Amino acid sequence: MTPSSIACAAVRASSTTTIRPTRSVTSFFHLYFNAFHPQSMMAERNRHLPDPDRRVVPKIGRLGPDEQGFHRITYLAQEGRPLTFRITDTVLKAELDRPLAPGDSTVFEIRFRSQVPLQTRRSGRDNAEGIDFSMSQWYPKIAAYDGRGWHPDPYIGREFYGVFGTFDVRITLPACYTIGATGMLLNANEVGHGYDRISSRGWTRFDPREAGLQCTPGDSLTWHFRAENVHDFAWAADPDYIHEAWHDDSLGVTYHLLFQPDVAERWQPMRQWVPWLIRYFSRRIGRYPYPQFTVVQAGDGGMEYPMINFITGRRSPFSLLGVTAHEAAHEWFYGVLASNENAYAWMDEGFTSWATTEAVAHLLGQAPDHRDAMLSVVRLQQMGLFERLNTPADWFASNAAYSVAAYPGGEMLLDLLGYVLSDSLRDAFLRAYFHTYGLRHPNPYDVEKVAEQVSGLRLDWFFEQLTNSTYTYDDALEVTTQQRTPEAGA
Ligand SMILES: [Zn+2]
Repeated sequence: MTPSSIACAAVRASSTTTIRPTRSVTSFFHLYFNAFHPQSMMAERNRHLPDPDRRVVPKIGRLGPDEQGFHRITYLAQEGRPLTFRITDTVLKAELDRPLAPGDSTVFEIRFRSQVPLQTRRSGRDNAEGIDFSMSQWYPKIAAYDGRGWHPDPYIGREFYGVFGTFDVRITLPACYTIGATGMLLNANEVGHGYDRISSRGWTRFDPREAGLQCTPGDSLTWHFRAENVHDFAWAADPDYIHEAWHDDSLGVTYHLLFQPDVAERWQPMRQWVPWLIRYFSRRIGRYPYPQFTVVQAGDGGMEYPMINFITGRRSPFSLLGVTAHEAAHEWFYGVLASNENAYAWMDEGFTSWATTEAVAHLLGQAPDHRDAMLSVVRLQQMGLFERLNTPADWFASNAAYSVAAYPGGEMLLDLLGYVLSDSLRDAFLRAYFHTYGLRHPNPYDVEKVAEQVSGLRLDWFFEQLTNSTYTYDDALEVTTQQRTPEAGA
C-alpha cells in the first residue's frame, strides 16, 4: 500500500462513520397512556418476563373500561394542514405534509382527548396513597430525533428520551386542588395555595384545612406554568396537599414540598434534606440550572421529572432520604444531560446511583461505600444472568438483569473510574462532563471522550469492557510477593 492510498483509506473511513441527518418525511409521537390496557405491549411484555414488575402485573390485566388509559387524537396538523397518521400501541406515526430538512423547523397542532388511567405504573389517578392525580407521560409527546434518526420507542416498561424545549401549560381544575409541577407558576397571586407568599426568610406553609378550603362544584382555577430547557413536563394534584416552600437566595432556587397530612411529621426532615441535596450536587457535579425544585407525594415509588420528583410518602426515614437523594440526583443526569436512557440506562440510573451513595453518606457523616454495587454485579454474573450495560432497557431478558446493569452496573463503572484515574480526577471528569454535555444528550462515547481529555489517559479498554461485554470483574490480589531486584554488577 502506498502512502497516498493509506491517506485515501483514512478519508473514506471517516466519511462512512459520520451519520448525517437526512430529510425526514415522517414524524413520531409517544402516546404513553395507551400502555395502560390489558392488551398493550406493556401488559404483554410483563406477562412473559420471568420476574414481572409487581407494580404492573396483575393490576394492568384487570383494568376495567373506566380504569384504562388512552389518548384519542382528534386533530393533527402541520402548519395548518391536517396530516394522515397511524397509531400502533403507544406510538403515532404521521406522514408529513412538508418534509423536514436538517436544521429545519415546523409547527404541529395536536388536539386530543384522554382518559387518565387508574394509577398502574408511574402515572395515573388515585394512587395507593390516595393522591388524586400523578400526571406524568400524560400528553402526546414528540419522539426524539438524533444522529441515529428517530427514536419512537414503544412504552413497554421503562426509561425515556426526550427533546429539550419550552413548555407553556395551563391546567384548569376544581379550585380546591393544589398542584405541584415542572416550571414556574406565572399566576401565583391569582392562584394562591401558598405560591403567593414564598419567602427567603423561612419555610412557608399552606394547609387547605387551615385555609378552610373546600371543594365547591363549578368553582375552578386555572394554573399557568412555564418551563424552559426541559424535555418533559409533569404535574401532580390533590385537594389535601400541604404545600411548604422556601426560596434559597444562595442558589436562586425555590424549593417546594407537597404532601398529605398523614405523612407531614415524617416529611419534616425534608426541609433540611432537599436544600442540602441540591447544594451538594451543585457543588459536586455542576450548578442546578432551574429556578425551582419540587418534591411531591405522588406516583408509585420514586420517579424523576424536570424540576419535580414524584415519591411515595409512607416510608421509613432512611428510605425517604434514599429515594429523595436518588431522584434529586436525576435532575443532573436525567434532567440536564438527558442521554438516551432507553439505549444507555447506566448513563442515567447508574451515575445517579453513584451520586446517591455519595450524597447519603456525606449527609450522614460517613465514608461513601460502593461495594454493594459491585457485589450486586458479581452475584448476577455468578448466576449467569448478567447482561452488558449497553443492552437497550426494554431488551433485557429479566427485570433483574436490567436492574443490576442499569443501577449498580453504572455505579460500579463510576467507582472503578475513580480507581483508575484517582477520585479527584473522576470528580473533575464529572464536572467537565456536565459542563460540556448539559442540554446536549451525550452518548457513551462522549463519556469516554471527556474522561480521556480530563485524565490524559486512553480509556477505550475500560469503557468497552465495562459497557459492551459481560466480562467478569475481579480486583482481588490473591498472592503478593516482593523480591529485591539484583543490583547490576552485584
Ligand atoms: Zn432512578
